[in-house]
Amino acid sequence: TLRRSLGVGAFSTVHLATHTCGALVAIKRIDKAALTTPDELHRAGCEIRLLKKLCHPNIVRLHHTFATNDSLCLVLEYAPHGELFDYIVARVRLDDATACRFFKQALSGLRHLHEEMHWAHRDIKPENLLLDKDLNIRIADFGLSSPCAPGGMVGPACGSPCYAAPEMLTRAGGDAYEGHPADFWALGIVLYAMLEGQLPFEDNGSAGLYNRIISGRYRTPTRASASGKSMLRFMLKTSPRERPR
Ligand code: AMP
Repeated sequence: TLRRSLGVGAFSTVHLATHTCGALVAIKRIDKAALTTPDELHRAGCEIRLLKKLCHPNIVRLHHTFATNDSLCLVLEYAPHGELFDYIVARVRLDDATACRFFKQALSGLRHLHEEMHWAHRDIKPENLLLDKDLNIRIADFGLSSPCAPGGMVGPACGSPCYAAPEMLTRAGGDAYEGHPADFWALGIVLYAMLEGQLPFEDNGSAGLYNRIISGRYRTPTRASASGKSMLRFMLKTSPRERPR
């Protein structure tokens, strides 16, 4: 039974629903009519195939799938505490211990995706890090994910510009860039947002934003601890080779 809407994605709407067994679940309905190009169809298929294989405490669980005449429906574990984005906004910024806990959990989910499953997420941001009933991170939204073995390349660039790694914005890297270090850069931006309550790279125009990202010079964090600052420096290395991999 469908209940209220939980959110809207590019090709989908997500609803809270009650399963026949009584449990609350999230149903992601992908509108078949919205998938007009072969690439969009391919992406929807990739997301479902990947989710079916993923099983990790920090990744949202897919219970099952079904199709109606007009939609593909993914029955997902419900994350009642919603997006990390809203959690940060409601508190302005997070204390070191909470940020560290969320960061470690997101890292653990990403490592599973990278090293065991050989995929890159490609859209890591606080809106796609959900919080389950115990306030644990669940990585969600694999709609832009690509197969990517360690050291493998992906492309073209996609995701939200504020979370894009420098190598995605240069002419050389725009078409193909290493998938895993780019996910780690995005996670570094998430860590900054948790500790500071704002983004490290912002500008009114996209050219200005890209220049700031490529330069790698971010606003010095004012509230982070020494270890938080040190982790930020490690995650936000402009060279993907110097980032965790
Ligand atoms: P998506 O299209 O997967 O990005 O989902 C759009 C939005 O729906 C997300 O940003 C969340 O706010 C919400 N959402 C998606 N999946 C879930 C879930 N399993 N539990 C709770 N909210 C969700």
